[in-house]
Amino acid sequence: MALEITLLGTGLPFPNPKRAGPGYMVQAGDTKILVECGSGVVRRLVEAGHSPGDIHHLFLSHLHSDHFIDLGHFLISRWILGDDRPLHVFGAEGLQRMINLILEILEPDLRMRMSIRKVAREMPNVVVHHISEGQALDEDGFKVSAFDVEHFPLEQPFGYRFDIKDHSIVFSGDTRPCDNLIKHASGVDLLVHECTEANTWSKEHGSGQIDTHHIELAHTQPEQLGLIGRDAGVKELVVTHMNPQTIPENIHSTISRDFDGPLTIGEDLMKF
Ligand SMILES: [Zn+2]
Ligand SMILES: [Zn+2]
Repeated sequence: MALEITLLGTGLPFPNPKRAGPGYMVQAGDTKILVECGSGVVRRLVEAGHSPGDIHHLFLSHLHSDHFIDLGHFLISRWILGDDRPLHVFGAEGLQRMINLILEILEPDLRMRMSIRKVAREMPNVVVHHISEGQALDEDGFKVSAFDVEHFPLEQPFGYRFDIKDHSIVFSGDTRPCDNLIKHASGVDLLVHECTEANTWSKEHGSGQIDTHHIELAHTQPEQLGLIGRDAGVKELVVTHMNPQTIPENIHSTISRDFDGPLTIGEDLMKF
């Protein structure tokens, strides 16, 4: 069973034509699982040759909008394309309410689309799984577990670990360096880790009203990421969640000071 990871989006909340918001697809055989659903992810999914209707499981690391803002687009596209199978969405407390609100926004549109149909149709069926640290899914050879990370000021941010046959992949979600991630990513084949530079962040916030000191409690800097990869002993490191102003060559040289394995500064639509 060939395993493929596609980076659908390697950006963050700041709109960036080169990087969609966070999104990753894990595919093994016919099973495709989406992790995060940031801005532009549905378009990237189609660019990568997939359809929203191919996906029946979605994992959200936390409820910051950059990780879910395309969810309405995903739900309605999946429905328009004719898929009535349930979509299982996994995430923190608050997810059910969020899904209810998105479906409420979509309802008038769904009713209009139903009114022109010859055959009756169900409304989208979304099954929400509120999770905590531990195993979240064991299906079709996919084992997915959630683990706690540290992303101030959120109460329930998660990273995800996928174990598929003898392959292991970890998605950090958004986090500052934390021991629990190193524990769960220990020795994995692939670590997809965020890198939200503080020194390019400030240029994005013209207002100057954000206390950028929160970044050290919430995100990981390039000079910290090589140590994380090294301490976890990961076989390969892929960097994501980058500012529009981040210069890939710069962070590559910083991270590779401490991590000497294969290192890729992610770009949208890269596959591993
Ligand atoms: Zn984020
Ligand atoms: Zn976040």
